[in-house]
Amino acid sequence: MFKQNNQFKPFESRIWLSSPTMHGPEMEYVKEAYETNWMSTVGANINEAERLACEKTGCRYAVALSAGTAALHMAVKLAGVKPGDKVFCSDMTFDATVNPVAYEGGVPVFIDTEYDTWNMDPEALEKAFELYPDVKVVVAAHLYGTPGKIDKIREICDRYGAFLIEDAAESLGATYKGKQTGTFGDVSAISFNGNKIITGSSGGMLLTNDKEEAEKVRKWSTQARENAPWYQHEELGYNYRMSNVIAGVVRGQFGYLEEHIAQKKAIYERYQKGFQGLPVSMNPYDPEHSEPNFWLSCLLIEEEAMCEQVRGECRVLYSPEPGKSCPTEILETLAKYNAEGRPIWKPMHMQPIYRMNGFVTREGNGRAKTNAYIEGGVKGKDGRPLDVGMDIFQRGLCLPSDNKMTAEEQERIIEIIRQCFE
Ligand SMILES: *Cc1c(COP(=O)(O)O)cnc(C)c1O
Repeated sequence: MFKQNNQFKPFESRIWLSSPTMHGPEMEYVKEAYETNWMSTVGANINEAERLACEKTGCRYAVALSAGTAALHMAVKLAGVKPGDKVFCSDMTFDATVNPVAYEGGVPVFIDTEYDTWNMDPEALEKAFELYPDVKVVVAAHLYGTPGKIDKIREICDRYGAFLIEDAAESLGATYKGKQTGTFGDVSAISFNGNKIITGSSGGMLLTNDKEEAEKVRKWSTQARENAPWYQHEELGYNYRMSNVIAGVVRGQFGYLEEHIAQKKAIYERYQKGFQGLPVSMNPYDPEHSEPNFWLSCLLIEEEAMCEQVRGECRVLYSPEPGKSCPTEILETLAKYNAEGRPIWKPMHMQPIYRMNGFVTREGNGRAKTNAYIEGGVKGKDGRPLDVGMDIFQRGLCLPSDNKMTAEEQERIIEIIRQCFE
Protein backbone atom coordinates (compact mmCIF):
# COMPACT_ATOMS: atom_id res chain seq x y z
CA MET A 1 0.00 0.00 0.00
CA PHE A 2 1.24 3.46 -0.82
CA LYS A 3 0.56 6.07 1.81
CA GLN A 4 0.13 9.59 0.55
CA ASN A 5 0.66 12.61 2.72
CA ASN A 6 -0.59 15.23 0.35
CA GLN A 7 -1.77 17.66 2.96
CA PHE A 8 1.55 19.39 3.45
CA LYS A 9 4.33 20.85 1.40
CA PRO A 10 7.88 20.14 2.57
CA PHE A 11 9.28 22.60 5.12
CA GLU A 12 11.02 25.46 3.34
CA SER A 13 13.92 25.52 5.74
CA ARG A 14 15.05 22.23 7.16
CA ILE A 15 13.84 21.19 10.61
CA TRP A 16 16.92 19.88 12.37
CA LEU A 17 17.30 17.14 14.91
CA SER A 18 19.22 19.53 17.17
CA SER A 19 21.26 22.47 15.90
CA PRO A 20 23.40 25.15 17.59
CA THR A 21 21.63 28.31 18.83
CA MET A 22 23.77 31.41 19.37
CA HIS A 23 22.64 34.44 21.35
CA GLY A 24 25.22 37.22 21.14
CA PRO A 25 27.54 37.13 24.16
CA GLU A 26 29.40 34.20 22.53
CA MET A 27 30.65 36.54 19.78
CA GLU A 28 31.70 39.17 22.31
CA TYR A 29 33.93 36.69 24.13
CA VAL A 30 35.38 35.37 20.87
CA LYS A 31 36.04 38.96 19.77
CA GLU A 32 37.74 39.70 23.06
CA ALA A 33 40.06 36.72 22.54
CA TYR A 34 40.82 37.94 19.03
CA GLU A 35 41.39 41.58 19.91
CA THR A 36 43.67 40.74 22.83
CA ASN A 37 45.54 38.11 20.78
CA TRP A 38 44.67 35.34 23.25
CA MET A 39 44.23 32.99 20.26
CA SER A 40 45.63 30.07 22.16
CA THR A 41 44.91 27.22 24.53
CA VAL A 42 45.28 29.56 27.49
CA GLY A 43 43.19 32.62 28.32
CA ALA A 44 40.35 34.15 30.27
CA ASN A 45 37.59 32.37 28.31
CA ILE A 46 38.95 28.95 29.29
CA ASN A 47 39.21 29.89 32.95
CA GLU A 48 35.73 31.40 32.93
CA ALA A 49 34.13 28.47 31.06
CA GLU A 50 35.65 26.07 33.60
CA ARG A 51 34.38 28.18 36.48
CA LEU A 52 30.88 28.26 34.98
CA ALA A 53 30.88 24.46 34.56
CA CYS A 54 31.78 24.06 38.26
CA GLU A 55 29.17 26.60 39.29
CA LYS A 56 26.46 24.89 37.25
CA THR A 57 27.17 21.28 38.19
CA GLY A 58 28.56 21.73 41.67
CA CYS A 59 31.75 19.82 40.92
CA ARG A 60 35.00 21.20 42.31
CA TYR A 61 37.23 21.04 39.22
CA ALA A 62 36.54 21.25 35.50
CA VAL A 63 39.25 20.83 32.86
CA ALA A 64 38.38 22.25 29.44
CA LEU A 65 39.39 19.95 26.59
CA SER A 66 39.06 19.75 22.81
CA ALA A 67 36.13 17.30 22.96
CA GLY A 68 33.98 15.17 25.20
CA THR A 69 35.78 12.20 23.69
CA ALA A 70 39.11 13.62 24.89
CA ALA A 71 37.59 14.03 28.38
CA LEU A 72 36.49 10.38 28.34
CA HIS A 73 39.95 9.31 27.17
CA MET A 74 41.55 11.20 30.08
CA ALA A 75 38.97 9.65 32.41
CA VAL A 76 39.92 6.15 31.24
CA LYS A 77 43.59 6.99 31.88
CA LEU A 78 42.75 8.28 35.37
CA ALA A 79 40.89 5.03 36.02
CA GLY A 80 44.14 3.23 35.27
CA VAL A 81 42.78 0.96 32.52
CA LYS A 82 45.60 -1.23 31.17
CA PRO A 83 45.72 -3.35 27.98
CA GLY A 84 43.48 -6.39 28.35
CA ASP A 85 41.45 -4.97 31.26
CA LYS A 86 37.72 -5.51 30.93
CA VAL A 87 35.56 -2.40 31.46
CA PHE A 88 31.76 -2.41 31.88
CA CYS A 89 30.19 0.10 29.47
CA SER A 90 26.76 1.39 28.53
CA ASP A 91 25.60 -0.51 25.46
CA MET A 92 22.97 1.66 23.79
CA THR A 93 25.00 4.85 23.35
CA PHE A 94 27.22 6.84 21.02
CA ASP A 95 30.49 5.02 20.28
CA ALA A 96 32.44 7.90 21.87
CA THR A 97 31.35 6.52 25.25
CA VAL A 98 33.32 3.31 24.73
CA ASN A 99 36.07 4.00 22.17
CA PRO A 100 38.35 5.69 24.76
CA VAL A 101 38.41 2.37 26.65
CA ALA A 102 39.79 0.75 23.49
CA TYR A 103 42.32 3.62 23.01
CA GLU A 104 43.98 2.36 26.20
CA GLY A 105 43.78 -1.29 25.15
CA GLY A 106 40.85 -1.96 27.49
CA VAL A 107 38.11 -4.38 26.45
CA PRO A 108 34.56 -3.05 26.75
CA VAL A 109 31.98 -5.49 28.11
CA PHE A 110 28.55 -4.12 27.34
CA ILE A 111 25.78 -3.85 29.92
CA ASP A 112 22.25 -4.03 28.56
CA THR A 113 19.73 -1.20 28.73
CA GLU A 114 16.63 -0.89 30.94
CA TYR A 115 13.19 0.14 29.64
CA ASP A 116 12.66 2.62 32.53
CA THR A 117 15.24 5.20 31.44
CA TRP A 118 16.89 3.69 28.33
CA ASN A 119 20.17 3.72 30.25
CA MET A 120 22.45 1.10 31.82
CA ASP A 121 20.35 -1.51 33.62
CA PRO A 122 21.59 -1.72 37.24
CA GLU A 123 20.29 -5.29 37.40
CA ALA A 124 22.44 -6.26 34.41
CA LEU A 125 25.42 -4.45 35.97
CA GLU A 126 24.96 -6.50 39.12
CA LYS A 127 24.92 -9.69 36.99
CA ALA A 128 28.05 -8.52 35.19
CA PHE A 129 29.98 -8.22 38.46
CA GLU A 130 28.93 -11.77 39.30
CA LEU A 131 30.23 -12.96 35.92
CA TYR A 132 33.41 -10.81 35.93
CA PRO A 133 34.26 -10.06 39.58
CA ASP A 134 37.68 -8.62 38.68
CA VAL A 135 36.37 -5.66 36.71
CA LYS A 136 37.35 -2.34 38.30
CA VAL A 137 35.98 0.33 35.93
CA VAL A 138 32.46 1.23 34.74
CA VAL A 139 31.50 3.79 32.06
CA ALA A 140 27.84 4.82 32.26
CA ALA A 141 26.10 7.34 29.97
CA HIS A 142 22.87 9.33 30.37
CA LEU A 143 21.14 8.95 27.03
CA TYR A 144 19.36 11.81 25.29
CA GLY A 145 19.54 13.92 28.46
CA THR A 146 17.63 11.48 30.67
CA PRO A 147 19.46 10.47 33.86
CA GLY A 148 19.96 6.76 34.38
CA LYS A 149 19.55 5.17 37.82
CA ILE A 150 22.94 6.57 38.67
CA ASP A 151 22.69 6.30 42.47
CA LYS A 152 22.04 2.56 42.14
CA ILE A 153 24.92 2.25 39.67
CA ARG A 154 27.13 4.26 42.06
CA GLU A 155 26.15 1.96 44.94
CA ILE A 156 26.99 -1.19 42.94
CA CYS A 157 30.36 0.29 41.91
CA ASP A 158 31.15 1.15 45.54
CA ARG A 159 30.25 -2.36 46.64
CA TYR A 160 32.63 -3.89 44.07
CA GLY A 161 35.32 -1.24 44.51
CA ALA A 162 34.96 -0.04 40.93
CA PHE A 163 35.86 3.39 39.52
CA LEU A 164 32.83 5.05 37.90
CA ILE A 165 33.20 7.22 34.79
CA GLU A 166 30.01 9.15 34.11
CA ASP A 167 29.40 10.14 30.51
CA ALA A 168 27.18 13.22 30.90
CA ALA A 169 27.90 14.46 27.36
CA GLU A 170 24.20 14.54 26.48
CA SER A 171 22.80 15.43 29.89
CA LEU A 172 24.35 18.74 30.99
CA GLY A 173 21.88 20.44 33.33
CA ALA A 174 19.84 17.29 34.03
CA THR A 175 19.44 16.25 37.67
CA TYR A 176 18.89 12.97 39.52
CA LYS A 177 17.42 13.25 43.01
CA GLY A 178 18.22 16.95 42.88
CA LYS A 179 21.90 16.45 42.03
CA GLN A 180 23.41 17.38 38.68
CA THR A 181 24.50 14.60 36.33
CA GLY A 182 28.26 14.79 35.92
CA THR A 183 28.76 14.72 39.70
CA PHE A 184 28.02 11.04 40.42
CA GLY A 185 31.10 9.58 38.77
CA ASP A 186 34.60 9.46 40.23
CA VAL A 187 35.20 11.53 37.14
CA SER A 188 32.71 12.68 34.53
CA ALA A 189 32.72 14.02 30.99
CA ILE A 190 30.56 16.69 29.39
CA SER A 191 30.51 17.79 25.75
CA PHE A 192 30.05 21.03 23.82
CA ASN A 193 29.80 19.37 20.42
CA GLY A 194 27.67 21.21 17.85
CA ASN A 195 24.40 19.40 18.47
CA LYS A 196 24.51 19.25 22.28
CA ILE A 197 22.27 21.30 24.59
CA ILE A 198 24.87 24.10 24.65
CA THR A 199 27.86 24.17 22.33
CA GLY A 200 31.24 25.69 21.61
CA SER A 201 31.06 24.22 18.07
CA SER A 202 33.24 21.54 19.66
CA GLY A 203 34.85 20.99 23.03
CA GLY A 204 34.33 19.08 26.23
CA MET A 205 35.31 19.01 29.88
CA LEU A 206 36.41 16.53 32.48
CA LEU A 207 34.72 17.06 35.86
CA THR A 208 36.10 15.85 39.17
CA ASN A 209 36.22 16.72 42.88
CA ASP A 210 39.83 15.53 43.14
CA LYS A 211 42.45 18.26 42.77
CA GLU A 212 45.23 15.82 41.94
CA GLU A 213 43.18 14.21 39.17
CA ALA A 214 42.34 17.60 37.68
CA GLU A 215 46.02 18.56 37.70
CA LYS A 216 47.02 15.28 36.06
CA VAL A 217 44.54 15.89 33.23
CA ARG A 218 45.72 19.48 32.81
CA LYS A 219 49.24 18.15 32.42
CA TRP A 220 48.46 15.18 30.13
CA SER A 221 46.24 17.32 27.87
CA THR A 222 49.04 19.86 27.30
CA GLN A 223 51.75 17.40 26.18
CA ALA A 224 52.71 16.28 29.70
CA ARG A 225 55.51 18.76 30.33
CA GLU A 226 57.44 18.35 33.56
CA ASN A 227 58.43 21.30 35.71
CA ALA A 228 61.81 22.03 34.10
CA PRO A 229 63.44 24.86 32.10
CA TRP A 230 63.19 22.82 28.88
CA TYR A 231 60.60 20.43 27.47
CA GLN A 232 61.04 17.56 29.88
CA HIS A 233 58.80 14.48 29.54
CA GLU A 234 58.28 11.54 31.84
CA GLU A 235 54.78 10.59 30.68
CA LEU A 236 52.90 10.28 27.42
CA GLY A 237 51.29 13.61 26.54
CA TYR A 238 48.32 14.71 24.44
CA ASN A 239 47.26 17.91 22.72
CA TYR A 240 43.72 17.92 24.09
CA ARG A 241 43.29 21.38 25.61
CA MET A 242 40.34 23.56 24.62
CA SER A 243 41.06 26.64 22.51
CA ASN A 244 40.39 30.04 24.10
CA VAL A 245 38.27 30.90 21.03
CA ILE A 246 36.03 27.85 21.45
CA ALA A 247 35.92 28.59 25.19
CA GLY A 248 34.53 32.03 24.37
CA VAL A 249 31.54 30.40 22.69
CA VAL A 250 31.09 27.96 25.58
CA ARG A 251 31.36 30.84 28.08
CA GLY A 252 28.65 32.76 26.26
CA GLN A 253 26.37 29.72 25.97
CA PHE A 254 26.34 28.85 29.67
CA GLY A 255 23.93 31.70 30.39
CA TYR A 256 21.40 30.10 28.03
CA LEU A 257 21.50 26.51 29.28
CA GLU A 258 18.30 26.85 31.31
CA GLU A 259 16.52 28.55 28.42
CA HIS A 260 17.51 25.73 26.06
CA ILE A 261 16.33 23.13 28.57
CA ALA A 262 12.96 24.89 28.92
CA GLN A 263 12.56 24.95 25.12
CA LYS A 264 13.49 21.27 24.82
CA LYS A 265 11.09 20.36 27.60
CA ALA A 266 8.27 22.20 25.83
CA ILE A 267 9.09 20.23 22.67
CA TYR A 268 8.96 16.93 24.58
CA GLU A 269 5.62 17.82 26.18
CA ARG A 270 4.12 18.95 22.88
CA TYR A 271 5.05 15.62 21.31
CA GLN A 272 3.70 13.72 24.28
CA LYS A 273 0.36 15.48 23.98
CA GLY A 274 0.32 15.32 20.18
CA PHE A 275 0.82 11.55 20.10
CA GLN A 276 -2.06 10.74 22.44
CA GLY A 277 -4.08 7.88 21.03
CA LEU A 278 -1.23 6.61 18.84
CA PRO A 279 0.37 3.24 19.68
CA VAL A 280 3.60 4.96 20.75
CA SER A 281 5.34 6.27 23.86
CA MET A 282 8.05 8.86 24.47
CA ASN A 283 11.54 8.15 25.82
CA PRO A 284 10.68 7.59 29.49
CA TYR A 285 12.01 9.13 32.67
CA ASP A 286 11.17 8.92 36.32
CA PRO A 287 9.52 12.26 37.18
CA GLU A 288 9.76 11.49 40.88
CA HIS A 289 13.55 11.28 40.89
CA SER A 290 14.88 12.89 37.79
CA GLU A 291 14.61 16.07 35.76
CA PRO A 292 16.07 15.45 32.28
CA ASN A 293 17.45 18.23 30.08
CA PHE A 294 15.19 16.86 27.30
CA TRP A 295 18.02 17.13 24.76
CA LEU A 296 16.31 14.81 22.27
CA SER A 297 12.69 13.72 22.16
CA CYS A 298 12.34 10.09 21.11
CA LEU A 299 9.53 7.78 20.20
CA LEU A 300 8.99 4.06 20.83
CA ILE A 301 6.43 2.21 18.71
CA GLU A 302 4.40 -0.49 20.43
CA GLU A 303 5.29 -3.98 19.27
CA GLU A 304 1.77 -4.65 17.92
CA ALA A 305 1.91 -1.47 15.83
CA MET A 306 5.22 -2.27 14.11
CA CYS A 307 5.10 -3.09 10.41
CA GLU A 308 7.84 -5.42 9.25
CA GLN A 309 11.27 -3.79 9.25
CA VAL A 310 14.48 -5.70 8.57
CA ARG A 311 17.86 -4.09 9.10
CA GLY A 312 21.07 -5.47 7.64
CA GLU A 313 24.46 -3.96 8.46
CA CYS A 314 24.05 -0.85 6.32
CA ARG A 315 20.66 -1.13 4.63
CA VAL A 316 17.07 -1.49 5.70
CA LEU A 317 13.82 -2.73 4.18
CA TYR A 318 10.28 -2.42 5.47
CA SER A 319 6.80 -3.20 4.23
CA PRO A 320 4.17 -0.53 4.89
CA GLU A 321 0.98 -1.76 6.46
CA PRO A 322 -2.30 0.04 7.26
CA GLY A 323 -2.55 1.04 10.92
CA LYS A 324 1.12 0.26 11.51
CA SER A 325 4.48 1.91 10.99
CA CYS A 326 8.17 1.58 11.84
CA PRO A 327 11.12 3.90 12.53
CA THR A 328 12.33 3.64 8.92
CA GLU A 329 8.98 4.66 7.48
CA ILE A 330 8.74 7.62 9.88
CA LEU A 331 12.33 8.74 9.24
CA GLU A 332 11.93 8.48 5.47
CA THR A 333 8.63 10.35 5.61
CA LEU A 334 10.13 13.10 7.77
CA ALA A 335 13.03 13.38 5.32
CA LYS A 336 10.58 13.79 2.42
CA TYR A 337 9.18 16.80 4.26
CA ASN A 338 12.67 18.20 4.91
CA ALA A 339 12.76 17.29 8.59
CA GLU A 340 15.58 15.44 10.31
CA GLY A 341 15.08 12.49 12.67
CA ARG A 342 17.54 9.75 13.54
CA PRO A 343 17.52 6.09 14.51
CA ILE A 344 18.25 5.28 18.17
CA TRP A 345 21.98 4.73 18.84
CA LYS A 346 22.65 1.24 17.49
CA PRO A 347 23.77 -0.78 20.53
CA MET A 348 27.51 -1.33 20.79
CA HIS A 349 27.14 -5.10 21.16
CA MET A 350 25.53 -5.12 17.68
CA GLN A 351 28.39 -3.13 16.10
CA PRO A 352 30.82 -5.13 13.92
CA ILE A 353 33.82 -3.52 15.68
CA TYR A 354 32.65 -4.82 19.09
CA ARG A 355 30.93 -8.00 17.98
CA MET A 356 33.30 -10.27 19.90
CA ASN A 357 33.01 -8.34 23.19
CA GLY A 358 30.99 -9.53 26.14
CA PHE A 359 27.37 -8.47 26.55
CA VAL A 360 25.43 -8.88 29.77
CA THR A 361 21.64 -8.74 30.08
CA ARG A 362 19.51 -8.70 33.24
CA GLU A 363 19.59 -12.50 33.13
CA GLY A 364 23.36 -12.82 32.71
CA ASN A 365 25.60 -13.49 29.73
CA GLY A 366 23.58 -12.29 26.78
CA ARG A 367 25.86 -13.30 23.94
CA ALA A 368 24.95 -16.97 23.92
CA LYS A 369 21.24 -16.20 24.05
CA THR A 370 20.88 -13.27 21.70
CA ASN A 371 23.37 -13.94 18.94
CA ALA A 372 20.92 -16.24 17.20
CA TYR A 373 18.27 -14.39 15.25
CA ILE A 374 14.82 -15.34 16.40
CA GLU A 375 11.67 -13.72 15.06
CA GLY A 376 10.54 -11.15 17.60
CA GLY A 377 13.75 -11.50 19.59
CA VAL A 378 14.68 -13.68 22.56
CA LYS A 379 12.30 -13.24 25.51
CA GLY A 380 13.39 -13.18 29.13
CA LYS A 381 11.73 -14.99 32.04
CA ASP A 382 9.48 -11.95 32.51
CA GLY A 383 8.21 -12.30 28.94
CA ARG A 384 9.88 -9.09 27.80
CA PRO A 385 12.63 -9.03 25.17
CA LEU A 386 15.89 -10.11 26.78
CA ASP A 387 18.03 -7.83 24.62
CA VAL A 388 16.48 -4.49 25.53
CA GLY A 389 18.92 -2.39 23.50
CA MET A 390 18.20 -4.34 20.34
CA ASP A 391 14.47 -3.98 20.96
CA ILE A 392 14.58 -0.19 21.50
CA PHE A 393 16.84 0.18 18.45
CA GLN A 394 14.30 -1.78 16.38
CA ARG A 395 11.21 0.15 17.54
CA GLY A 396 12.54 3.59 18.50
CA LEU A 397 13.67 6.79 16.82
CA CYS A 398 14.83 10.32 17.66
CA LEU A 399 12.44 13.07 16.61
CA PRO A 400 13.25 16.55 15.31
CA SER A 401 14.10 18.28 18.61
CA ASP A 402 15.56 21.58 17.52
CA ASN A 403 14.89 24.43 19.93
CA LYS A 404 14.33 26.81 17.00
CA MET A 405 11.45 24.70 15.66
CA THR A 406 8.18 26.65 16.10
CA ALA A 407 5.09 25.17 17.74
CA GLU A 408 3.34 25.31 14.33
CA GLU A 409 6.17 23.42 12.67
CA GLN A 410 6.08 20.83 15.41
CA GLU A 411 2.31 20.40 15.00
CA ARG A 412 2.95 19.60 11.33
CA ILE A 413 5.65 17.06 12.30
CA ILE A 414 3.16 15.43 14.66
CA GLU A 415 0.52 15.29 11.94
CA ILE A 416 3.02 13.78 9.46
CA ILE A 417 3.87 11.07 11.99
CA ARG A 418 0.19 10.42 12.74
CA GLN A 419 -0.37 9.81 9.02
CA CYS A 420 2.32 7.11 9.02
CA PHE A 421 -0.04 5.08 11.25
CA GLU A 422 -3.10 5.48 9.00
C1 LIG B 1 28.60 13.64 22.03
C2 LIG B 1 28.89 12.50 22.90
C3 LIG B 1 30.19 12.17 23.31
C4 LIG B 1 31.40 12.79 22.75
O1 LIG B 1 31.50 14.14 22.80
P1 LIG B 1 32.33 14.94 21.69
O2 LIG B 1 32.46 16.29 22.29
O3 LIG B 1 31.54 14.91 20.44
O4 LIG B 1 33.66 14.26 21.54
C5 LIG B 1 30.36 11.12 24.20
N1 LIG B 1 29.31 10.43 24.66
C6 LIG B 1 28.06 10.69 24.28
C7 LIG B 1 26.95 9.87 24.87
C8 LIG B 1 27.80 11.71 23.38
O5 LIG B 1 26.55 11.93 22.97
